[in-house]
Amino acid sequence: MEIDFNKGGGLVPAVIQDAETRAVLMLGYMNEEAWKKTLETGKVTFFSRSKQRLWTKGEESGNFLYLEDMKVDCDRDTLLVRARPQGPTCHTGTDTCWKEENTSHFGFLSVLEDVISDRRANTSSKSYVSSLFNAGMNKIAQKVGEEAVEVVIEAKDDNEDLFLNESADLLFHYLILLQAKGYTLADVEKILRERHKK
Ligand code: AMP
Ligand code: ZN
Ligand code: ZN
Ligand code: ZN
Repeated sequence: MEIDFNKGGGLVPAVIQDAETRAVLMLGYMNEEAWKKTLETGKVTFFSRSKQRLWTKGEESGNFLYLEDMKVDCDRDTLLVRARPQGPTCHTGTDTCWKEENTSHFGFLSVLEDVISDRRANTSSKSYVSSLFNAGMNKIAQKVGEEAVEVVIEAKDDNEDLFLNESADLLFHYLILLQAKGYTLADVEKILRERHKK
């Protein structure tokens, strides 16, 4: 879809989002030239209103934003730019221009982690998760083992519904075990990421 540069007097706001973590990193403005240069070079380039010239983010600091994907909004006057940041995006040294960390998020799985953490803190509540924490580490670990076996059993069958449900059971109990051990999904992700680098 074509971008309407005219509405903003030649400039369109560009929301910069981390392609991986989905964190909003910064906001800049692009004119047609900046947009073209971004596509050509693969490095996010703005029209700087203070510098009054094209500005490739990272041109001095080396903290480039490597373009992943760019799309225009419903009425063609705002861009969503997904990029992979090389280092912190804000010139003050923080990951985002809103002093936030660019940590990874796991969507609904992160919501579940919070719920589990709540239930753990409220061991008196009548929830299944609380009762598992009350029962202790052995019980929790054993549940993960049971659910894993159930996944294996269903993997041999063609019942997709059962396989998916047992997979959900396994993932859920695994999240509980992680918390019982004092870890989060992010800790595991970090190790996977490290391995990926090698
Ligand atoms: P850089 O593009 O990272 O080499 O930074 C060059 C200059 O651009 C900095 O000294 C700031 O004045 C400005 N700048 C860098 N990053 C940002 C940002 N995220 N938002 C606004 N201005 C920035
Ligand atoms: Zn719009
Ligand atoms: Zn900033
Ligand atoms: Zn199960």
